[in-house]
Amino acid sequence: MNTRDSGRHRVVFRAPPPANPARHTAEPDPKARETMDPNPPSFPLTPRNRVRRRPQRGHYDHETVYRILDAAMLCHIAYVIDGQPYCTPTAFWREGDHLYWHGSSASRMLRAEATGIPVCLTVSHMDAIVLARCGFNHSINYRAVMAFGRAAPIEGAAAKKRAMDGFIDRFFPGRAGALRAPTAKEIKATMLVGMRIEDASAKIRDVGVHDDEEDYAHPVWTALVPLQTVLGAPEECPRQLPGLDAASGGMAAYRAGRRLDAVMTETAAAYARREVGVKD
Ligand SMILES: Cc1cc2nc3c(=O)[nH]c(=O)nc-3n(C[C@H](O)[C@H](O)[C@H](O)COP(=O)(O)OP(=O)(O)OC[C@H]3O[C@@H](n4cnc5c(N)ncnc54)[C@H](O)[C@@H]3O)c2cc1C
Repeated sequence: MNTRDSGRHRVVFRAPPPANPARHTAEPDPKARETMDPNPPSFPLTPRNRVRRRPQRGHYDHETVYRILDAAMLCHIAYVIDGQPYCTPTAFWREGDHLYWHGSSASRMLRAEATGIPVCLTVSHMDAIVLARCGFNHSINYRAVMAFGRAAPIEGAAAKKRAMDGFIDRFFPGRAGALRAPTAKEIKATMLVGMRIEDASAKIRDVGVHDDEEDYAHPVWTALVPLQTVLGAPEECPRQLPGLDAASGGMAAYRAGRRLDAVMTETAAAYARREVGVKD
């Protein structure tokens, strides 16, 4: 682990566990279980993050929370301005126990968040539709995280440039170096904010159809219908220069037919291994 302290954001770099998005639906390897840390690092349990509804689905350990976050490109960020709640979808990335996102310097969301207001960042993956024998028992298999903290801006052109490069490289390893460098005007037009995760919860449903015993005799088709977000075939720009391929632009992991959450997990691990980031 490599810890660096500089400025407002402490960045902790830690290699995440190997990519295995199927883990939630598969029994853990018994050999791996023997070597599991009995007390893995966890987020503090607070009145804010304690899962009350179906608490057996709640998890607070870093590994589970980070695995769900790292499998996503998209999050939703909730915040309140003048008593009005908003919930904005946006791309984000993680470095250690910090989460970062960005947008236009004119963004109302970012300008408000940069004042240090409390935010709640959520990620959810839908893994299956669960069709039961009554409406009440219909469900969704999912992996979700709610992370709480206070947003703070990334300030200074050099730090913003590093963060902008980090944002590109987290998703597309090595692509920032292949791109035309951002101009001073583009850096000025971009606002980046981040938050340290103060506390967080993960909630996972990964079981099959569950009905009341007397309903199993009811004649209706039931099933678990798996859901996946899968990459399509790239549609190359008609003005593409000759001799270029996807791998040269940091897109080696993005092969058509792959699951997006698997690609996100793989590229997050590659980014963590590089040990570069927002506050180099
Ligand atoms: C894709 C998807 C679809 C869902 N559909 C439904 C639905 O149709 N109906 C329904 O009732 N519920 C649904 N849920 C579950 C829902 O997110 C809540 O967990 C549930 O409604 C309980 O809410 P609550 O406020 O009573 O939770 P509480 O247990 O009171 O919440 C307390 C704390 O637990 C944690 N927590 C609660 N829910 C989650 C979560 N999902 N992920 C991470 N942390 C959590 C948070 O830290 C929260 O502050 C869905 C979840 C997902 C991901």
